[in-house]
Amino acid sequence: MKTCSYCAEEILNEAIKCKFCKEDVSAFKEPKIKTPKQELMKTCPMCREEIKQGANKCRHCGEFQNTKEVNEMIENYQNEVNQENFDGWVFFLIGIGVVFFILTTV
Ligand SMILES: [Zn+2]
Ligand SMILES: [Zn+2]
Repeated sequence: MKTCSYCAEEILNEAIKCKFCKEDVSAFKEPKIKTPKQELMKTCPMCREEIKQGANKCRHCGEFQNTKEVNEMIENYQNEVNQENFDGWVFFLIGIGVVFFILTTV
């Protein structure tokens, strides 16, 4: 058995999709950090069902939990998006510079 990195439920080692939260778990075959077995429960704020304390995602309603890991995930994603936008602007400005250079030299 392995633990789903989203809902912290136990799933089969061969599983590529979590049967509880329906997330793709194929990329998480070998968890980098071995987390201690957490059997503490918390209540999902959305559906009020009981889920594992370490769960990042509710296995009942699929709602992401407001955990440190999830917040970091969102932050990293936003940083990536910002970086992409910045790269786009750099290329845009270089393009304008090239066009301007061609127009002024011809
Ligand atoms: Zn899961
Ligand atoms: Zn829920």
